[in-house]
Amino acid sequence: MTPIKPAIKKKISVTPKKNKLSSAKGAKDILPDECRVLDSLHSAAANIAGFYNFSRIEPAPLESSEIEDADWETLGIDPKRILTIKGSNGDLLSLRFDPAISLLRSFTENGLHKTGPQRLYYFTPSFKDVGEEAAYKTEYHIGFGILGGNVDSIYDAQVINTVYRLLGRLKLKDLMIHINSVGCMVCRPNYKKRLLQYFKDLSCCKECKRKLEKNPFRIFDCGDKECIALCANAPIFLDSLCSNCSNHLKNTLEFLEELKLPYMVVPQFIGDLDYRSRTVFKVVSEGSGDLAWGGRHDYLGEIINGHTIPAVQSRLNVEKLIELMRETSTASGKGRIFLIYVGDLAKRKSLPLIEEFREKRLPVTESLGEDSLSAQLQAASQLEAPVALILGQKEAHEENIIVRDMETGIQEIVPISKVVEEVRKRLRSN
Ligand SMILES: [Zn+2]
Ligand SMILES: [Zn+2]
Repeated sequence: MTPIKPAIKKKISVTPKKNKLSSAKGAKDILPDECRVLDSLHSAAANIAGFYNFSRIEPAPLESSEIEDADWETLGIDPKRILTIKGSNGDLLSLRFDPAISLLRSFTENGLHKTGPQRLYYFTPSFKDVGEEAAYKTEYHIGFGILGGNVDSIYDAQVINTVYRLLGRLKLKDLMIHINSVGCMVCRPNYKKRLLQYFKDLSCCKECKRKLEKNPFRIFDCGDKECIALCANAPIFLDSLCSNCSNHLKNTLEFLEELKLPYMVVPQFIGDLDYRSRTVFKVVSEGSGDLAWGGRHDYLGEIINGHTIPAVQSRLNVEKLIELMRETSTASGKGRIFLIYVGDLAKRKSLPLIEEFREKRLPVTESLGEDSLSAQLQAASQLEAPVALILGQKEAHEENIIVRDMETGIQEIVPISKVVEEVRKRLRSN
């Protein structure tokens, strides 16, 4: 008799396989909790944009760039931070880096500049190579711009007003507009000279010494303690403005006063402003920092495609706003009617009933994949459902359903055919 060979147990590997597809280092997925906040932020922005007559535009995220590295530096952008892809025919394509630049590119390329000033807003991501640790960053942006037309300070005031009102609608408190001017081609060289003269014999950090040669205005971004102290005593641009720039700022401030917006003229530069001209501003909240930035950029069009286009734009600090709004956001499905079922027949009958609620625009949440009654009741209570509908086996056979007031616990049996109307009545009387 042939001996029976013992079955060879197959070895099961416990080492997890490395995922073949993974997100790029630093590029973050936006998960449902954060998306919910992002959606409500966008919905508030769309609402305010609608009132002030801004139309949404979505510039292509992939651009064929013929801008020289030297021009990117003029824009204050390190070309190494731009993510570049090689197309099949060898073309170099760049992923959107700065939405304000993409907006202006799209505006002129599509001939929108021929029809006078236009109010546009965007809700769009940008991509960048963060550098040091070869990490990549995707950021969402919501921005508003008035592009084309004249260099009229009414547009500056209107853009500032739009972002300010939006932040107010988001219930952000203690808002203050910081405003300044970075001059024009006429007055900027004079100021640059004064600045270089001031820093000439001072000992600023290594990086600032480099900045003094390439772009001295960038010195105001330095985080070094000694440099910050030196910057505090540096000459201010307001004293070097030409009469056009000075009047532009004065008129903008007068409009802000008419709009009863709180502002403060700050003496030094405001942030990332290389391609800006004249008015620059940010909206800050005490304790929460910068919530929006913006300014005029009349010369940007010349650099990116040879057209001079007066324009003013502002964009929100979406990352900060998500952080602030997450603290107050509600969980998904909160406050909706909750449908509970017991047994297979009730599960089936729940489906057309949910559709009936949808047609009558009454939001319903269910957990049809969950069999336990207590788990379903617990979910209803966690979501603070005002009303729970319980479709038991007996009720399903008799074409009835139990309507439970989740606050008092009082239950009533009603025919399924009348439940939508009954729920509507109850919600109205709440
Ligand atoms: Zn000027
Ligand atoms: Zn420095």
